[in-house]
Amino acid sequence: MNNRLYGNLIFELSREGRKGYSLPKNNYGDYDIPASIQRKEEPQLPECDELTVVRHYTNLSNNNFGVDTGFYPLGSCTMKYNPKINEEMAALPPFQNLHPLQPAETAKGAWAMVNLLEQSLCALTGLAHFTFKPFAGAHGELTGLMTIDNYHRSRNDLQRKKVIVPDSAHGTNPASAAVCGLEILEVRSTSEGLVDLADLERLVEQEGENIAAMMMTNPNTLGLFETQIPAIAKLVHDCGGLMYYDGANLNPMLGACRPGDMGFDVMHINLHKTFSTPHGGGGPGAGPVGVREGLQECFPFVSPYLGNFGVLMRAFAFILSLGREHVKEVGPLATLNANYIKESLKDVYELPIDGLCCHEFVFDGLKDKRTGVTTMDVAKRLLDYDYHAPTIYFPLLFHESLMIEPTENESKETLDGFIAVMRKIAEEAMTDPDLVKSAPHNTPIGRVDDVLAAKHPVVTFRQMRNEE
Ligand SMILES: *Cc1c(COP(=O)(O)O)cnc(C)c1O
Repeated sequence: MNNRLYGNLIFELSREGRKGYSLPKNNYGDYDIPASIQRKEEPQLPECDELTVVRHYTNLSNNNFGVDTGFYPLGSCTMKYNPKINEEMAALPPFQNLHPLQPAETAKGAWAMVNLLEQSLCALTGLAHFTFKPFAGAHGELTGLMTIDNYHRSRNDLQRKKVIVPDSAHGTNPASAAVCGLEILEVRSTSEGLVDLADLERLVEQEGENIAAMMMTNPNTLGLFETQIPAIAKLVHDCGGLMYYDGANLNPMLGACRPGDMGFDVMHINLHKTFSTPHGGGGPGAGPVGVREGLQECFPFVSPYLGNFGVLMRAFAFILSLGREHVKEVGPLATLNANYIKESLKDVYELPIDGLCCHEFVFDGLKDKRTGVTTMDVAKRLLDYDYHAPTIYFPLLFHESLMIEPTENESKETLDGFIAVMRKIAEEAMTDPDLVKSAPHNTPIGRVDDVLAAKHPVVTFRQMRNEE
């Protein structure tokens, strides 16, 4: 791209014999290392000077997009600002230097923190106990479903192997159920985007004694509040099943209402979404699982130690800095921001389900479909204007889904800037559709072949060389 050696791999910058280190003089003499534990070949390491290494990684990090660099309205993933005090707390040496195998009596502070975090989550969710072992939301779902499976087994109710999942559910829900060895029964959504109670009644009637659980998200994946939860919970409980709450995106609920009060028995929370600890690129996360009194006896063994302790620290710092009083503002502000964007754009983007949304909502592409400009094109064009794209082509209920979640932290100026750019793109789609269809134009790499990248990922240097 320019003289900044952008995008090269560190291996390509390697020059034989070049060094970025100097070892101290050997004052200890030479020792023979047994041949059996010696390398047979030289390690394949890049050889670079220090400044080249510094520039390489600094430039790479500048290519990255994060919440700290710009607006990141990724629906269903809550890319929320992580206040820097969270990092300070997680980096405190007495916590950071803990070893998982040190005697418990020497790590009482860590245990106290986890206990206090558990109390906070119980207060926020209305459940009685939490386990902090799961490393992510999907891992939490699996842990929660295994808990439910253990519960039915403990009662010798062995035929309960079916899980009801709404058709709007996050993909991890049916996937976790399948990994847990359970079968999925899909319940339909109404045209308003909520669980179809009549369809649920039919399922419960047909499959009653086989139902292990129903998994739900509320607000659901369309950002809509499910108003029929008491009736749904009653149907499921009456046939002997348990209610599972996918609390990955708890944001609009914080301080507003509690899954435990709504009739849910088991849930997971993504601390790396609602409780601000950073995520992306696959980790690290924490998906603690909460249960109603008694069900903690059924927790499975899913990992040793205390899960991702640093993530727990960040979440706890976030909760403490908000406090009981301000935690209540999170949901309403996130909801206000989402509705503000939705109302400001619905004349140019197709809003399939109108009305008040919660913390996120879904457009079905541009309103004017004649130009052939797709959701993918809009998302790519946003990159040119320095915005991260929203979630696209999810949920699967619409062809051109564009799912926007601003979170509570963004200023009105930021939201207005995003709205202006979204309107500008809609205008470009009319006046110069090819400009949008060929975007992005200002990023280090243009439009990549998603299918090729997914089907034939080249993830190591060596592999790339072999294929040449
Ligand atoms: C993100 C998300 C998950 C999965 O969480 P991971 O930490 O990515 O495994 C599950 N359900 C919903 C609704 C989500 O948004």
